[in-house]
Amino acid sequence: MTWPIACVRPQESLANHTSFRIGGPAEWFAEPSTLEELQAVLREAHRRGLPVSIVGGGTNTLAPDRGLNGVVLHLGRGFRTVEDVSDPQAPIAQVRCGAALLTQRLVYLAATHGWGELEGLAGLPGQVGGAVMMNAQDIGRFLQRVTLIKPDGTVREVPREQMAFTYRDTAIESGLIASVLLQFPKVPPAESYARIRSALQHRNSTQETGLPSAGCAFKNPPGVGAGRLIDLAGLKGARIGDAQVSLRHANFIVNVGHATCDDVLSLMEHIQREVRRAHGVDLEPEVRMAGERWGP
Ligand SMILES: Cc1cc2nc3c(=O)[nH]c(=O)nc-3n(C[C@H](O)[C@H](O)[C@H](O)COP(=O)(O)OP(=O)(O)OC[C@H]3O[C@@H](n4cnc5c(N)ncnc54)[C@H](O)[C@@H]3O)c2cc1C
Repeated sequence: MTWPIACVRPQESLANHTSFRIGGPAEWFAEPSTLEELQAVLREAHRRGLPVSIVGGGTNTLAPDRGLNGVVLHLGRGFRTVEDVSDPQAPIAQVRCGAALLTQRLVYLAATHGWGELEGLAGLPGQVGGAVMMNAQDIGRFLQRVTLIKPDGTVREVPREQMAFTYRDTAIESGLIASVLLQFPKVPPAESYARIRSALQHRNSTQETGLPSAGCAFKNPPGVGAGRLIDLAGLKGARIGDAQVSLRHANFIVNVGHATCDDVLSLMEHIQREVRRAHGVDLEPEVRMAGERWGP
């Protein structure tokens, strides 16, 4: 069966859309570039009774080896917009971003235009929409408003007062983020550039950047780094199939060849067991499974 919408294609490998390079095919992969196209996809998915899930940059995502049924939404180029809507006299910058904007493009523009306090986002892979859903690097503190597309295709503006930001999570009503309004203090561009550069250097010297991964596999328990607990449990280099605990940063699981989703999940379970045995601490996954249902 085909789709009446050009931006939808069948059997697209999710390994091509996750930084882990893992995952089977999406039954239908939709890359809408306009709001109208997105709404048409949602209507058709609803008509066919298909589940809809969302993948952004796929850098915090583990996709199942068997793939996913239904429609996987991945916002296209039309959602990579960025617009400075600041009042030139005001001491704050207001920036409207499409949800598919690469977070690193935002960081680059911050260094150029003097938007302050973005150094925490320097080097963070993925897209702005995904970063907001994960509250990655506490991006929620900049958020003013989100434009959300509801499962029935209606558009809703959600103000910051109706969201809650916690460590690696944003609580927001269900829907797809189409765009966000962010607010930053204005600073001299040279200052913004210097801070971003230094944060990037720190990140590159401490994190695993050479091998496919989804960043930290587990959230840090209160007061202690998950990586330190994993390292102390003697798990650096532990391997199941082609999934391995990074030798550089123990909270990163890396794909050293042709790792499967099952390899990664088995290794995560092994880590959780060993850390519980060694330290009495339960590690909670930070990586999310693709296919978490969205909408009805
Ligand atoms: C090398 C490396 C380093 C990393 N370092 C960090 C770090 O320092 N700090 C940190 O917090 N994270 C880090 N991460 C994890 C990841 O990069 C961030 O969480 C990132 O912000 C996720 O963005 P994404 O677009 O890739 O999200 P995805 O992985 O695509 O999605 C994450 C979640 O958001 C949902 N989602 C995505 N887009 C939308 C949308 N438009 N509307 C609604 N829901 C959506 C997805 O369904 C999923 O549930 C790292 C990852 C890697 C690979």
